[in-house]
Amino acid sequence: MQVLKFGGTSVGNAKAIEKVCHILQHHKPGGRYAIVVSAMSGVTDQLIQCGTLAAKGQENYKRILEDIEIKHFDTIRTLFPITIHSGLISQVKKRLNSLETLADGIFQVGELSKRTLDKIMSFGELVSSYLVAEKLKQLGLSATWKDSRELILTDDRFGNAQVDFTATNHQLQQFFASSPAAYTVLPGFVAATAENETTTLGRGGSDYTAAIVAAAVNASLLDIWTDVSGMMTADPRLVSQALPIAHISYEEAMELSHFGAKVIYPPTIQPVMNKRIPIWIKNTFAPDDHGTLIQNSTERNYPVTGISGIQHIALLTLEGSGMVGIPGFSKRLFDALLHARINVILITQSSSEHSITVGIHEADMLKAKAAVDDEFGQEIHEKKIEPLLVERDLSIIAVVGDKMKNHHGTSGKLFGALGRNGINIRAIAQGSTEKNISTVIHKNDIKKALNVLHEAFFETPTKQVNLFIAGVGNVGSKLLEQLHQQHAYLESELGLHIRVIGVANSKQMAFREKGIASGEWRDALVAGDQMEMSAFVQQAKKLNLRNSVFVDNTASPAVAAVYSEFLQHGISVVTCNKIACSSGYANYKKLKDLARQFNASFLFETNVGAGLPVINTLNDMIRSGDQVRSIQAVLSGSLNFVFNHFVGNANFRDVVKAAQDEGYTEPDPRIDLSGVDVARKILILARESGVPLEMEDIVNNSFLPEAALYAPSVPAFYEQLDVFADYFNGLRNAAEKEGKRLKFVAAYEDGKASVGLQAVGPDHPFYNLQGKDNIVLFTTARYAEQPLMVKGAGAGADVTASGIFADIIRTAR
Ligand code: ADP
Ligand code: ASP
Ligand code: MG
Repeated sequence: MQVLKFGGTSVGNAKAIEKVCHILQHHKPGGRYAIVVSAMSGVTDQLIQCGTLAAKGQENYKRILEDIEIKHFDTIRTLFPITIHSGLISQVKKRLNSLETLADGIFQVGELSKRTLDKIMSFGELVSSYLVAEKLKQLGLSATWKDSRELILTDDRFGNAQVDFTATNHQLQQFFASSPAAYTVLPGFVAATAENETTTLGRGGSDYTAAIVAAAVNASLLDIWTDVSGMMTADPRLVSQALPIAHISYEEAMELSHFGAKVIYPPTIQPVMNKRIPIWIKNTFAPDDHGTLIQNSTERNYPVTGISGIQHIALLTLEGSGMVGIPGFSKRLFDALLHARINVILITQSSSEHSITVGIHEADMLKAKAAVDDEFGQEIHEKKIEPLLVERDLSIIAVVGDKMKNHHGTSGKLFGALGRNGINIRAIAQGSTEKNISTVIHKNDIKKALNVLHEAFFETPTKQVNLFIAGVGNVGSKLLEQLHQQHAYLESELGLHIRVIGVANSKQMAFREKGIASGEWRDALVAGDQMEMSAFVQQAKKLNLRNSVFVDNTASPAVAAVYSEFLQHGISVVTCNKIACSSGYANYKKLKDLARQFNASFLFETNVGAGLPVINTLNDMIRSGDQVRSIQAVLSGSLNFVFNHFVGNANFRDVVKAAQDEGYTEPDPRIDLSGVDVARKILILARESGVPLEMEDIVNNSFLPEAALYAPSVPAFYEQLDVFADYFNGLRNAAEKEGKRLKFVAAYEDGKASVGLQAVGPDHPFYNLQGKDNIVLFTTARYAEQPLMVKGAGAGADVTASGIFADIIRTAR
């Protein structure tokens, strides 16, 4: 004999029931089948809601009764020929009437006992199974309906009744021995006490009914037909990349379902496992998919089979010096929980025996606290033990696999992956069988943690990187273009899947949890919300995606001010904005420390020399033990352009104007000409060399006369350049007379830094610097004779964007 169970969605409407009948019709002919059926999807929840509302004296319980009636009558009308509608409808109506009587009674007395709730809940499976049986008969199959309450005997723990296996097995065997029908349809979930009171087997319990039947009749196979193609590597509603598991052992399936893989109700496995009956999980809506075959341990060589999670967990911790070395404390703790009928999901004990921690459902939290504090009342009074500590809002994540014990480094990989994503672990438990490592985390982290671990154990080598981008002007839009262009390459060559989750300009911001398609960010922004930096930060934190990176393409102080908040949430920061790194040393240091503490990256290569590898080169030298002696650099593309053109008979004012017109300077050219921008850059290089300088420590030998520097407006500034034309010509002529050229040079040596105009001769490496190029010379302990030189384009949207791009990739690797 074979047992097949069909879940709620599989009988959720007429179309689904037709699929079920089709599957049964095409099963091996000549076999005998027990078919266990759930309530139509949603009906059990509706029934509970109906009872609860009635008990609260709320009349709208009647509305729910009506909804339930409509759902079933509609199904009958679609599923059956019109000639038999009235007969079927009157049968269902009879049951509905008794349900209504029950609900009215609850409404009158204003109370809903567990006993009555079981009666109410039984309605769902009683009717759905009846409809399936009738449909099979109508299709001409030898089918019969049998009430499971006459076969499955339980105690009177209503809502979660315990099966009397001796009596149940006997009744089931007798029934099937004498029943002639090829197809016996049974309601799942429902059972009865010896006094014929209706009980239920716990939410999701139809699976269990099927397993009880299968074990009693020694079935050859137990099929669980549901709405997914098998047990998957993680809950597909939370992890979109989850994959079906083709083969899995009983023990693994048990662990996964115990820790939240709802696709199978945990008690289901034990009865069939004892008899070595295989369970096959199949998809009613994709019957050709393989599904999952659960049987004895399987031949596999990878360590982790699946990951599951349970929400709404509380941790109880019992601690105190009075526990050390004295046996019996944990027994008393567990006995107290057992008597209060509290299910313990996870246990960990510190090796000092100073404390013991257990995980339970949050709903049991208060009951547990009362029971345990009562049990240890005396010790608490004597201050040998602390009152039970209760923490809520937690979740458990379990990584499961038979072969974990043979593989080194599974837990290292697990903790590493969680840690890198800033997910704090509150407790850890590893079963002695080493088939399961469970970690307790905050409830807000569950989706992220499942995805992080799924990526680590099943999706390697692809890694998802989630970007939040502020600033989509010249540099930002170039960056988005480059990301788009390189998408396929990064995926195939580096295993990086980079998604843009959020974008913002100074006015608007937009988010898409699944990523903004390339080319659509402009429309997304138009349709987005008003930009508000704090709301942008909140949204990035709330989405709580793994490998998140904030990218700052602005020059805004307000944007630079939120880096610390991102870093504290494990969100990396990549920026071309110089404000944070050239602000007070304490702030710069704090950001670097936060990055270290929260396992995030804080990268700003483009702060100096745009895309040129200046900071990374410096970092590499220092990390490998080199020491910086001095730095000489030309770090302003704008100033370089100006002085490259200020030759011969040129007029300084005209050259500056031309530079501005060609976009080589800021709208106010003084930001470049004053040397402040260059000072910021040498400050950052000095700090990266390990010297805690402040901006005031940088000596700025500005060549601009004060009247020009402090002119009230840009036109007034240009006038001053004309006024001081002789002064500028004098600077140039003096240099040219010695065969030299003017360069604006930043220098660092012996803990001191300065910026200013210098005349350099033809043998100097700066002499031939072209266009907007930058150059940096590092003289170090290792590069003592000849300095290490980095030279190339030091400005421009394209190269800056590519420097940011490289930093983004660095955060991911
Ligand atoms: P049924 O009504 O058929 O008993 P359930 O809703 O009880 O179906 O269980 C199936 C659902 O379990 C799936 O739709 C899926 O959302 C959820 N689920 C949770 N974890 C897993 C997992 N690891 N593999 C497959 N499904 C899972
Ligand atoms: N209908 C019951 C429930 O929703 C049992 C089941 O579907 O397995 O919990
Ligand atoms: Mg189920």
